[in-house]
Amino acid sequence: MIETGKPQKIAQPAAEQRCINAACAARFDLNARLYVCPHCDGLLDVAVSISPDLDSKELRAIWTSRLESLNSHDRSGVWRYRELLPFAADAPIVTLAEGNTPLYDAPVSAAYCDLDALTLKHQGCNPTGSFKDTGMTTAVTQALILGARTVVCASTGNTAASLAAYAARAKLQCAILVPRGQISHAKLAQSLDYGAAVLELDGNFDEAMRVIRELAEDETIYLVNSINPFRIEGQKTVAVELLQQRAWRVPDHVVVPGGNLGNSSALGKGFKELKELGIIDRLPRLSVVQAEGAAPFAGLFESDSNVLKPIEHPQTLATAIKIGAPVSWQKALRAVVESGGRVLSVSEQEIADAKAIIGRDGVGCEPASATTVAGIKRLVASGVIESDMDVVAVLTGHILKDTDYAINYHQEKLYTHDRAADTAKEERRLAGNYSNPPARVKSTKTAILEGLRRHEQQRDQA
Ligand SMILES: [Zn+2]
Repeated sequence: MIETGKPQKIAQPAAEQRCINAACAARFDLNARLYVCPHCDGLLDVAVSISPDLDSKELRAIWTSRLESLNSHDRSGVWRYRELLPFAADAPIVTLAEGNTPLYDAPVSAAYCDLDALTLKHQGCNPTGSFKDTGMTTAVTQALILGARTVVCASTGNTAASLAAYAARAKLQCAILVPRGQISHAKLAQSLDYGAAVLELDGNFDEAMRVIRELAEDETIYLVNSINPFRIEGQKTVAVELLQQRAWRVPDHVVVPGGNLGNSSALGKGFKELKELGIIDRLPRLSVVQAEGAAPFAGLFESDSNVLKPIEHPQTLATAIKIGAPVSWQKALRAVVESGGRVLSVSEQEIADAKAIIGRDGVGCEPASATTVAGIKRLVASGVIESDMDVVAVLTGHILKDTDYAINYHQEKLYTHDRAADTAKEERRLAGNYSNPPARVKSTKTAILEGLRRHEQQRDQA
């Protein structure tokens, strides 16, 4: 890429790592190689102090001017907002032009939810097809700063694919630990092509997480799971890009899928920082939607407890959010509560139908993303969201991440476990309420026209 952008005024932000546990509140150097607080095991936040020389008007002007720049850092939808990031001006930035994802008006989905309008922010349009790229660009940059030789993650797939790509760009070795048989083919294919060492483990995602915490004690290895606070830093810029695309008009509700909860934590941090800077004057309500069989966060939200109870055997076909012990629940809870949002869960049938509806807006997403539209439909029905409110659903992954799911749904061959039944293993077939199966026809004009007529009829009935 030709870099013609003129160097702009860069105010290097002062930053440090802080324990989020209020009773501890320990502070650490920005470049201390830590994953959790060494005193209390609490999660760490990166605290960035924005230069007081930059007021909100100036920041907006800088970010707007960068939309026309040809400089590769300005063209990244993450590094464009580098005044908010904890990196020096000479940081060895690893970028694939992440971010820059579209906002779509989605009238079919809006009608399905009983809303006047609905906007989809499609993070699946990132370089590796998921929202993870916005956090990986900053985490892998931090790995270079710390002098790591190997980056490692345990992942259900999207994190792995993203880390593998950014590691390849940074010329770092990438180790991916995945639960055997639990990832979609597309995500595995990506990691293999990007040259990562893919190590399949017996056991589930949470067990893989435990092993890599041990590995992270090695100084040449840098751990890049969603516990990594530098990923949250990159991902928080999605809030800024979303607002910039809306001319800084704050939506009433922003709804995201909930798995490991790094994404909700990051969005919450992004909106909060924008408010503190005076760039927006209120927070959108941030709501999180989980799949019924993997909903420990929704369980926490509905209970009187302050502590998340992990789910030992999470079950959902939305593999990207099939997580029983989400690491970032405290940060996510803070973000939801501060903004006045909700946490809820939806059934496998609701997810599958919502996904097909999103498709009818011409927008393809992976199953986990469709929890948003399913959740919004419920929140409208229960009166939490009013029909004329301004709502944004964040889609997190691309439809091509899981084509088996889509094909099975449309052919009415999508099976799930029936958790309501006594035997947890009993399978249940999901109804193809909005299915669109292929049809076999003779190769004559009459047969094709008849096939089209029938297709139209079937669609009208649905
Ligand atoms: Zn602590």
